[in-house]
Amino acid sequence: MSANSPPGKSDGDDPVDRPVPDVPPNPIESLGARLRDLDVDSIRRYLAQKLGFYEPPETAAPTDQVLEEVSLDGIVKWIQSERCKNIITLAGAGISTSAGIPDFRSPETGLYHNLQKYDLPEPQAIFEINFFRQNPKPFFMLAKELYPGSFKPTISHYFIRLLHEKGLLLRHYTQNIDTLERGAGIPEEKLVEAHGTFYTSHCLDCRKEYNLEYVKERIFADQIPICTECPGVVKPDIVFFGESLPDRFQRCLQEDFQQCDMLIIMGSSLEVQPFASLIDMVPDWCPRLLINREKAGMRSPLLRLWGVMSGGLQLDEDAVRDVARLGDCDDGCQDLADRLGWGDELRALVASEHARLDLAGAAAPPAPPLSPPHVTPQEPDL
Ligand SMILES: [Zn+2]
Repeated sequence: MSANSPPGKSDGDDPVDRPVPDVPPNPIESLGARLRDLDVDSIRRYLAQKLGFYEPPETAAPTDQVLEEVSLDGIVKWIQSERCKNIITLAGAGISTSAGIPDFRSPETGLYHNLQKYDLPEPQAIFEINFFRQNPKPFFMLAKELYPGSFKPTISHYFIRLLHEKGLLLRHYTQNIDTLERGAGIPEEKLVEAHGTFYTSHCLDCRKEYNLEYVKERIFADQIPICTECPGVVKPDIVFFGESLPDRFQRCLQEDFQQCDMLIIMGSSLEVQPFASLIDMVPDWCPRLLINREKAGMRSPLLRLWGVMSGGLQLDEDAVRDVARLGDCDDGCQDLADRLGWGDELRALVASEHARLDLAGAAAPPAPPLSPPHVTPQEPDL
């Protein structure tokens, strides 16, 4: 793993089979539990890098500039060039909001406040694995309440599919658990669902796998899904507080990010770790495009003042490889497609796929419109 690696790492154990630490159900404790799973060297490097004490030799050299101009058009020329072959996309809740999926963390939706009727010790307990083991009912009640009639993938999702069809997509990493990437036709092997998915479920005890339909039927019958092989509860494969990130996430990022020659960050405020640290795992010269409502993931101005290369996006006049396209995520993706000459193709793809989904009567594999249960508004104060 490179010196730029985030602190996340898999120990290869099945997350659910591992003894569950007896921690109070709050996100800081869960984060602490997660950090305890990491090897000491990773934490040391991460801390040193964050504090600016550690400077890997390869990043001390001036960054090679591959963009002819540091702008959206410069990015377009790079993508059109022969040298750009392996694009990684990183997506957050912003790519799904236009589908009507509320952001669980957004105060406007008030979802946390509406949870009081479930008699939880605190709202986040509904996504705590320890609490779920004791009392899975509130989670399934919430899942039923929020289960959508149908959601359709957005322009942003279809733009990612287009990147794949052009042979340019190395991998799509998503923080979303809404399964809309699958609904948009992005192949499973191109997908890393970093916070898990509702698409599959497993028995907490014997690990037997269940599909979306099995769980959905029981949720709508006001039943808790129980394993057919044992008395275990069947839990959707979304990552709860107190659980490790999926093995696939850990496996893929080891290989993918070193090969990446273009990173596109879409609809993410880059506040949730370890996902937020992925932007620093690409090569030092790799162009990075942020498509988001506001600037995000930037290097601390204080550290920059000290001349410390501590990672993060550089979105000022000195930028040599980072570009922000601010505004609505779908608008940004359509704009990028237009400039790439794929605009009409993208519009036609969205129109035909939405028409097909309308005809089928059920858009995309439906899932509860919850954003990932990772409520870490800022990096922990390590
Ligand atoms: Zn079982």
